[in-house]
Amino acid sequence: MDEIFPKGAAWIDGQFVKLSDAKIPILDWGFLRSDATYDVVHVWKGYFFRLDHHIDRFFQSTKKLRMPCKMSRNQLKKILAGCVKNAGLENAYVEMIQTRGVSPNFVRDPRQATPRVIAFAVPFGWILKPEDFEKGLDVLLTDIKRIPPNSVDPTIKNYHWMDLVTGMLNAYEKGHHTALLLDEHNNVTEGPGFNIFCVDQTGIITPKLGVLEGITRKTVFDLSDELGINISKKSISIKKLKTAKELFASSTAGGIMPITKISGKNIGLGKVGDVTRKIHKLYWQKHLDPNWITSVNDILK
Ligand SMILES: *Cc1c(COP(=O)(O)O)cnc(C)c1O
Repeated sequence: MDEIFPKGAAWIDGQFVKLSDAKIPILDWGFLRSDATYDVVHVWKGYFFRLDHHIDRFFQSTKKLRMPCKMSRNQLKKILAGCVKNAGLENAYVEMIQTRGVSPNFVRDPRQATPRVIAFAVPFGWILKPEDFEKGLDVLLTDIKRIPPNSVDPTIKNYHWMDLVTGMLNAYEKGHHTALLLDEHNNVTEGPGFNIFCVDQTGIITPKLGVLEGITRKTVFDLSDELGINISKKSISIKKLKTAKELFASSTAGGIMPITKISGKNIGLGKVGDVTRKIHKLYWQKHLDPNWITSVNDILK
């Protein structure tokens, strides 16, 4: 098969390979049952951003799935950095995955499977391209509900994406950029791969429960503290969402992204707000701060 990406490198079964050569057996529980966890960190100008936070969350997720990762932090870092190096990328999206693996003789007991670790690096991707920043996102508030947290723990980064993908399809078909999902009480949760923030008179609020606790979400808290902006975790109703002064989304895939429309209707004046702008600016400044970044080359030394 030809290259499936213009550039990309992977690590699987103990070795580095071209992305197009990275394959798993179809009997892996990760494929058949979405029984897997993953994490995504990005590399910007040769430096990982908040790498240890992503590795902490990945290790936590594997523990919660009762298949604790056997790899050490340093081993994993070398694999991730190796993928970036082999792909020859300055700006990359780097994914680590652990699947449940394959069970001997197809037995139904997941404990008998041997977990599989995979990693890959591909070019950095954006949910909202920098040139579209001023326009912001138009997000469809879809009628698809997020999987309840007592069914699938959303704090484990997972591939149970049928709700999110259905939301995306609904959004694309109606000409919106992406979708936002509600929970069973009609409070806002999150969208396909991003957390949401609402700015009102009191400051910034973001949903407390029923969401993946994004590293970029955590970063928004750190940046807000530094900027002296009040921020808290609280539920967001539909009314609160639609009457917000500003809305923005956060994700490793693109950072801080203004949302200027919900289902085609303006939020405020339909322009990027001041709070969003400040957080966005400091977010990118932190990509030069030695306390927040790790050189790909240093890991490989
Ligand atoms: C990855 C992800 C996010 C964003 O998390 P970051 O760590 O900031 O990239 C939000 N929601 C879901 C469902 C995700 O999978």
